[in-house]
Amino acid sequence: MSYVDLHCHSTASDGTLAPADVVRLANDAGLVGLSLTDHDTIGGIAEAAAEAKKLGVRFLAGIEISAEYPRPGTMHLLGYGVDTTNPALGDLTRRLIAGRGDRNVRIIERLNQLGVAITLAEVEALAGGTIGRPHFAEVLVRKGYVSSRQRAFDEYLGQGGKAYEDKETITPKRAIEMIKAAGGVAVLAHPIQLRADNDSRLETELKNLVDFGLDGIEVLHSDHNDRTIEYLAALAARWNLLSTGGSDFHGGNKPHIRFGFAATRRIPVEFMDKIEARLALG
Ligand code: AMP
Ligand code: MN
Ligand code: MN
Ligand code: MN
Repeated sequence: MSYVDLHCHSTASDGTLAPADVVRLANDAGLVGLSLTDHDTIGGIAEAAAEAKKLGVRFLAGIEISAEYPRPGTMHLLGYGVDTTNPALGDLTRRLIAGRGDRNVRIIERLNQLGVAITLAEVEALAGGTIGRPHFAEVLVRKGYVSSRQRAFDEYLGQGGKAYEDKETITPKRAIEMIKAAGGVAVLAHPIQLRADNDSRLETELKNLVDFGLDGIEVLHSDHNDRTIEYLAALAARWNLLSTGGSDFHGGNKPHIRFGFAATRRIPVEFMDKIEARLALG
């Protein structure tokens, strides 16, 4: 059997390895293919693609876009095979990143008001691209304000935390349209994070996305238990959606996640084959 990882992050967003290093890790781990899916940016794709070519690892351009969704859930959409030169996609990523910039300033203001003396420069120094809350969490740990990254989210940065700030998002419909207009396939990342109360609620949400043009769902993910995986796989088969999978590797920012593994499972190369077949259909 051959395996891939179709969901991971580099320093272009909130991972700790450079894009080329993620590809080297994939190669060293014996994976035959991967997709780099940084948050709201394609800034790492060119470097990763070049390294993948050099090492003979199959590579698929990717992006993970945060879409509007009611609390306490989150909705992330993966775009696979997007044309990284697509002007509209470039505009979108610039707008999302600019929105993050404004939000980062607000988070710092909130923290400072709470007596937490960290600066934006300290956060920026840890980031190589898109800045995310994990970077703030790391600074809070390093400066001794909290004992762990998780505590940083629980107390300050997570939804309901004392310094929580929303970020600029786009509607799910628009995100799917943008991915498809850029020639990609749109996949709902980690459906468990929608935090739907029951299967019927989840299916209603999914049905909406399918109406907007959703192509697939991420069945294998580090947050999915066996029941969720079986359920999502059945749903994908029933609705003729692509099944995808990935670890959501972030390097040292999420040390519990093992590259190439969705919890205990590995991701079969057939998942990548089927995405590529769908892309080839245009
Ligand atoms: P951002 O893109 O800045 O909104 O940050 C999102 C990142 O923060 C993702 O990698 C999440 O997994 C992580 N994150 C968000 N909420 C929490 C939480 N409550 N506990 C731990 N990590 C979280
Ligand atoms: Mn992340
Ligand atoms: Mn995500
Ligand atoms: Mn992710």
